[in-house]
Amino acid sequence: MSQTYTGSREETRIVHGIKSCHTTSMDLVPPIHMTSTFKFRDQAHGAGVFSGAEDGFLYTRISNPTVGQLQEKIALLEGTEDAIATSSGMSAIASVVMTLARPGDNIVACNALYGGTFALMHEHLAQFDINVRFISPADSNDAGNIVPLVDNKTRLLYIETPANPTLDVIDIGLWASIAANNNTIFAVDNTFASSYLQKPAALGADIVVHSATKYLGGHGDIIGGIIAASSEITTRIRESYFNHFGPAMSPFNAWLVLRGLKTLAIRMNRHSDTAMKVAMWLENHPKVSRVYYPGLVSHPNHLIAAKQMKDFSGIIAFELKGGMAAGKTVLDSVKLSTLAVSLGDCETLIQHPASMTHSTYSAEELKKAGIAEGLIRLSVGLEHPDDIIEDLDQAM
Ligand SMILES: *Cc1c(COP(=O)(O)O)cnc(C)c1O
Repeated sequence: MSQTYTGSREETRIVHGIKSCHTTSMDLVPPIHMTSTFKFRDQAHGAGVFSGAEDGFLYTRISNPTVGQLQEKIALLEGTEDAIATSSGMSAIASVVMTLARPGDNIVACNALYGGTFALMHEHLAQFDINVRFISPADSNDAGNIVPLVDNKTRLLYIETPANPTLDVIDIGLWASIAANNNTIFAVDNTFASSYLQKPAALGADIVVHSATKYLGGHGDIIGGIIAASSEITTRIRESYFNHFGPAMSPFNAWLVLRGLKTLAIRMNRHSDTAMKVAMWLENHPKVSRVYYPGLVSHPNHLIAAKQMKDFSGIIAFELKGGMAAGKTVLDSVKLSTLAVSLGDCETLIQHPASMTHSTYSAEELKKAGIAEGLIRLSVGLEHPDDIIEDLDQAM
């Protein structure tokens, strides 16, 4: 069975959007192909699949029908030729970095990053003699600050936007043009916006990575990652790193992400609407000193966000006038919000970046990335907005 029409509008494609069904039954939802290997009809067929002359599956670390459906759907939503589903967001990012950069090369990156990405770039890459040139988010929307860092050994420009955890918004089109002018590759971590709210490839990014653990899965029940790019780039990643290091996504996890994705548009609309309400309430609260949410007109990058995002997503950060001590009280007093890292789930999650997700940063590095010691990050869930607000109110 194959479904040939996936709709012309985004919301419809999010529900449909897979052409290859790989099932002989009449299932509405394709089955999960939980198999490590695949049968060949005969030796010639096996040889043909291995050489690529014949279509087919050979081994689940390399390809699997359920994982393939997810890859096809993400490529459709991101507007790229191809995509690779990986075991985690970190393995997606590691696969990109380790494929593109060789000893002696360098990477130029904005340093407002997911803590794990920062640790990978800051600590791990040095042992391969790959140098990462970091630029602060405050300097990242001015070509005059970025261009001098790029040279003929720069293999990758890398940003996250909105950035973790300060919600800085980086101009994707600006970085894309710098990458194109310098003949290098530009990757964007699109986790905070999701494939529905932001389309980095349409703005010139060569590679889009995701932690599918977050909004794409959307239900807090899996770990997964995505790399969306041209077939030329995904082929390089598959052949040089992915197939050999083996960070494949489980077919079961791919199936859960496919299931989660069907509600991506309605979830992101709701997350964004509720986050806007909570951010406005926080901004008017006498105990709050600063709110970071790209949807607020007070946000320094609000205009860039409005230009490149469909809506502003569900992550808010804020600081309390009482600093770290007041922050601790809130974290320990919330009753509805859950004290946990991660984001993009149905449940509202609250956490403290300096001691949790960004504990890989030194005090000085936190300062450079603009992460205040008392900053609190909120991943606004799908609960009623008034319940989230009442909970924060009683905790403050
Ligand atoms: C969570 C996260 C990652 C890492 O993804 P995992 O699935 O946890 O490995 C990378 N980037 C961003 C922006 C994230 O939020």
